[in-house]
Amino acid sequence: MSVLSVKNVKKSFGDLEVIKDISFSLEDGEVLAIIGPSGSGKSTLLRCINLLETVDGGQITICGDLLVSDPQPDEETKDEVASGSKRSKKGKAVKKPVYAPKDQLRKIRLNTGLVFQNYNLFPHFSVLRNITEAPIRVTGMEKEKAKETARKLLQKMGLSGKEDAYPCQLSGGQAQRVSIARAMALNPKILFFDEPTSALDPELTGEILKVIKELAAEKMTMVIVTHEMAFAREVADRVIFMDQGVIVDEGTPEALFTSDHPRTREFLGNYY
Ligand code: ADP
Ligand code: MG
Repeated sequence: MSVLSVKNVKKSFGDLEVIKDISFSLEDGEVLAIIGPSGSGKSTLLRCINLLETVDGGQITICGDLLVSDPQPDEETKDEVASGSKRSKKGKAVKKPVYAPKDQLRKIRLNTGLVFQNYNLFPHFSVLRNITEAPIRVTGMEKEKAKETARKLLQKMGLSGKEDAYPCQLSGGQAQRVSIARAMALNPKILFFDEPTSALDPELTGEILKVIKELAAEKMTMVIVTHEMAFAREVADRVIFMDQGVIVDEGTPEALFTSDHPRTREFLGNYY
């Protein structure tokens, strides 16, 4: 079953078209790696799926629920009447994608967890509270239950005993493992990683990659944006190569890392 479907998604910032018609889907238990040069739109794509940005067009379905879709022709007409008909220079109606209602969006968003490059922990909260905050506030989980879940996750991340530490007392690798525990605390169906090791010293990268490999072995469904090519090759079931807002090439790691596509070869050539 597809847990994520992205169809014809587009996103611009002003005149800059960052995502130009991207489509892909993700199966339950699959690990997808996304590689590509800096500025190719990888973070923006993850942010659109995780509702940190809105799309300008296309359709995203998460676990069978429609997050956003292009308007149906009749909705378009209604919309135009309601909004006094916005039109582009060519006189064509400007179609704005339609998002699910707010309460529905909140529910859909609970299916995804996002781990950022720079951890984004709350600096003034303890490690434990960083993890319990969302379950308590967002899903109304009982405090003790949230703490118990958080402790289990910390143990899984090899961080037992760090419950009362503050983010500034942690190494980058530890902070990133806390942020993985935090993302998992809401028990998401899909975990997204945006360059989870690129802020880390090389000797700390391994501990994060190990945690992600363990999650992959447990069949956690994941999308990982990474510059760690050897890691992508080892852990991913499928790899997408993005450049300038489009998917240039995709396939199994074997296929992609031996691809004949000139742009893929050029990009990988910079790494090998
Ligand atoms: P990547 O993650 O592949 O490096 P990004 O998605 O971060 O790429 O960025 C793609 C392009 O979009 C870049 O040119 C970046 O400067 C631009 N961009 C990203 N976010 C914004 C924003 N909020 N406002 C304006 N431009 C942005
Ligand atoms: Mg990025």
